[in-house]
Amino acid sequence: SHEIINPLRSREYGLKIAAEINRESEILAKELGRPVRVMNFCGTHEWTITHYGLRSLMSPSIELIPGPGCPVCITPGYYVDLLIDLSLDSYTVLTYGDAYKLPGTSGKKPRSLFQAASMGGRVKVVYSFTDAIKTAAEKPSEKFVFFAVGFETTMPATTLPMFYGKVPDNLFVLVTYRYTPPVMKYLLNNHPEVEIDGIIAPGHVSAIIGSESWRFLPEEFKIPVVVSGFEPVDVLTSIFLIVKMLSQGKPDLVNEYSRVVKPEGNTFVKKVIDKVHENADSYWRGIGVIPGSGVRLREPYRRLDILAQLGLEERIVEDKLPGCICDKVVLGLAKPFECPLFLKGCKPQQPYGPCMVSSEGACRIWAENT
Ligand code: SF4
Repeated sequence: SHEIINPLRSREYGLKIAAEINRESEILAKELGRPVRVMNFCGTHEWTITHYGLRSLMSPSIELIPGPGCPVCITPGYYVDLLIDLSLDSYTVLTYGDAYKLPGTSGKKPRSLFQAASMGGRVKVVYSFTDAIKTAAEKPSEKFVFFAVGFETTMPATTLPMFYGKVPDNLFVLVTYRYTPPVMKYLLNNHPEVEIDGIIAPGHVSAIIGSESWRFLPEEFKIPVVVSGFEPVDVLTSIFLIVKMLSQGKPDLVNEYSRVVKPEGNTFVKKVIDKVHENADSYWRGIGVIPGSGVRLREPYRRLDILAQLGLEERIVEDKLPGCICDKVVLGLAKPFECPLFLKGCKPQQPYGPCMVSSEGACRIWAENT
């Protein structure tokens, strides 16, 4: 409602918090000998930061770095190749619009489901898994496959109907879900050069998994973390809380988004997810295999898995596109404009790399909002 939202978009209030952030971060930056680096995990937080120009309010003593929060960007190209082949064979592929133009591994055509559709492939964009169920149920003699891309936030969409037996026999699922805490752990363990001082944890994801899922950041890595809402004042408050914890030398977990996120998350949904899926070591596009970061359907749900249906195993195929540094952008190791193709060979209207395809990709957000 307006009473809740308006103060969270108040310019006056935002400027006051920004001044406090700048004051604290200038002292910290002197001690560190470099700017304070705060990573936001979520593509939607990056959108808020970019759209509302929050970086322009920050002094050079603080850097806001976009992180791995775009599921489409890290979905392996192998899955796209497989779906393209299926769409040109005997299946209709049902996908969210965000993954429609996601490139596969090869440079050859068709390189996306969008191109496959223009070459006679059967591809349909759906708004939800419910929509996919309806589409498949209307044509029981045809076979359908749903491209289940996403982080913890989108998992319930397929998991609950599977659990309740609502998926028709002619609808299969390509399960490509990824868990978010393992990638943060991977990043901090494998890329210390990213030098992260604080983390803004995702709000929607945490509504499912719970804010306590991020406790390992202050405990194991001594990094302050704030689970944040998505309005500009939410994000500024979260940055302020991080800077404050840094200057007090007391890294901790704070839940700024307590109006939506509970410490334990959604316990019912978490239980169902665990009944339907088992944990897997899974590949992230261009990055590598991250322990415990993915899922596989358990019995008796495995019959819904398109890979099981076709007798295929997960494969890891080189899927970095020549010239694209999306993997580095995802890990906060490069900024979108450091890519030579940014707004040249790769634009929102004609994306070349995965980070320009999705509305949560940092390249797309920077291209459209700066
Ligand atoms: Fe990849 Fe395009 Fe981003 Fe460059 S601008 S990193 S090619 S997605």
